Amino acid sequence: MPDKSSAMVHTQYLPFLSLSWEAGGYSWGSAILAFLYREMCKAAKMSSVDGRALNADIGGCMVLLQSWAWYRLPFLAPICPAPSEFPLATRWRQRKDRALDHKVTLAVRMLIDMCCESEFIWRPYLHEDVFGLIPERAYEDAENWCSIMPLIHFALVEMFYGNRVLRQFGFHQPVPAAPRNMDELEQIDTRGKTEKNWPLTHWIGMQFETIDQAKSAIKLYNIRKSVHSKVTRSTSEKYVCECTQRKEQGCNWKVRVSKKKRKQNIWELSVYNGPHTCCAVGHRQDHPNLDSTIISQTVQPIVQASPKVTVSTLMAHVKSVYQYEPEYKKTWRAKDKALKKLHGDWDASYNELPGWINIMQKYNPGTIAVLETKPYYKNDRVVADVRQFHRHVLLLAVIQDGNRKTIPVAFALVPREDTDSCKFFLQNLRKHFFRHNTVCLISDRGSGFLSAIESLGSRFCSPKVEHRYCLRHIAANYHGRYKKDYERKLILRMGMFHSSS
Ligand SMILES: [Zn+2]
Repeated sequence: MPDKSSAMVHTQYLPFLSLSWEAGGYSWGSAILAFLYREMCKAAKMSSVDGRALNADIGGCMVLLQSWAWYRLPFLAPICPAPSEFPLATRWRQRKDRALDHKVTLAVRMLIDMCCESEFIWRPYLHEDVFGLIPERAYEDAENWCSIMPLIHFALVEMFYGNRVLRQFGFHQPVPAAPRNMDELEQIDTRGKTEKNWPLTHWIGMQFETIDQAKSAIKLYNIRKSVHSKVTRSTSEKYVCECTQRKEQGCNWKVRVSKKKRKQNIWELSVYNGPHTCCAVGHRQDHPNLDSTIISQTVQPIVQASPKVTVSTLMAHVKSVYQYEPEYKKTWRAKDKALKKLHGDWDASYNELPGWINIMQKYNPGTIAVLETKPYYKNDRVVADVRQFHRHVLLLAVIQDGNRKTIPVAFALVPREDTDSCKFFLQNLRKHFFRHNTVCLISDRGSGFLSAIESLGSRFCSPKVEHRYCLRHIAANYHGRYKKDYERKLILRMGMFHSSS
C-alpha cells in the first residue's frame, strides 16, 4: 500500500504487524483493494476547467493494476521471455519493454482507443497458459469472488462488486443492479482522528436491502467467530441479537438492525456492542446459525455449475469453508433451496409451459399441443385467467424407424398413470399421429394402459392396432421375482428370436 511516492508506506500499519500470529488473520487483500480503488477514484477526477487530470500521480499497489491490465490488454504488456507463473503478477520480473514508451500517456491512450473487441481478453484465468498454474488453494473461499461486500481500510470504505465481473471467472454475466451511492462515505475526513475505532464506526450504519440479508450477515459473523447468539427481538421494524453467554460469561455482544422508513425502508445496523468477550465454542459440533439458508448461499455456485452434485460433496465443501460439518438432511434442503433460487419453484415453472409450447409450435411447424387444465378456486370462487395443473407423471410415446433407432414422437404430463390419463394420451396419439395407419403398440403392461385400451373398444383392436408387451419389462419383472440373471438373459434371447411360422 505505498503512497504516491511509490516507495513510502504509512506508519499506521505498524501496530498490526506487532503480533505476527494475528497479522495473518487480517484481510490484507481487502485493505489493498480498498486503497487501490480509492486511489483510482482520485486519479480519475478531471478538472472542470481544462479537462486535465487533477491528480498527476496515483498511489496504491500498482503491480496489481498493471498485471490486471496486461493480462487483458496484451498489446500493452511488455515483451516477456518467461512464461506465466504464479502469482500471475511475477511474470514480468524480467521484462523487456516494448518500443512503446510507457511514459507517454498519449501513446497508451491511442492503443486502447484503437483496440477492437477481439483484442480484449475477457477470460484471462481460463486461458490455457494460465489455468493450470492457479493452485487449488486459490479456490478456497471462491464464493467470495462473486459476492458484494464492503472493503474496509481504516476510514476508507469501498464496495467490492463481484457480481459485475462474473464473466472473467467463466460464469454467465447478467445485467447487475445499480451500485450503491457511496458519496457520504467518501466525504469522511481522517484528519485529527487517529484514535478512532474505524471498524466500529463503519459497522454502525451498515446497510442491508432486506432483513434477510442482515440476518445472513449476522449468522455468518457468528459462524466465522465460532460464537453463538440468540434472537431477542424480531418485529417488522427491529431485529435484535445477543450473545448466548451473556449471563454465564458476561459477554455483552449485541447487535440491532432497524428499518429506516426515511431511507427507502433500508435496514441499518443501529447498535453494535462488540466484539464478543466470551470463549469461542470450537468446531466440534454443528453451528446453529449454519442453517439451510446459509448453506444454500454457500453452495449455490457449485449447484449452478453442476446441478447433479451429490449432497456429500456439498457437505465436504461446507466443512472446508466453515470447519463445521452440517447434517445430511440440512444440506439436502440447502441444495433444494439453491436449485429453487436458480431455476425457480418447480410448481411455478409450469407457468412457463404455455410460452414454451408457443415457441415449439413456431419453430417446429406441425407440433401439436393439447392442454387440459382445471379452473383455479380461491375461497370457493373461480379465479379468472388462472388455470390449474395437477402434479404430473410423464407419459412418453417413441417409435422405431427403419434403422432400429428410437425417436420420441409424443409426450403427455398427466395426473397419474390411470385409465383416464392413458385414454387421453392414446386418443390424442390416434387423432394426431397414427390416424388410419395400422400400428403395433408396445407397453409395459401397466394396468391403466391395459384398461384404457380395453375401454377404447374396436378402434384399438386387431387388425388396426396390435398390442404387444415390452420384452425388457417382462424380463425385469421375472428377475424381480426369481432373481436369476441367467434366466433373465434367456428370456431376452427367447423374445428376440425370429420365428418363421
Ligand atoms: Zn459472546
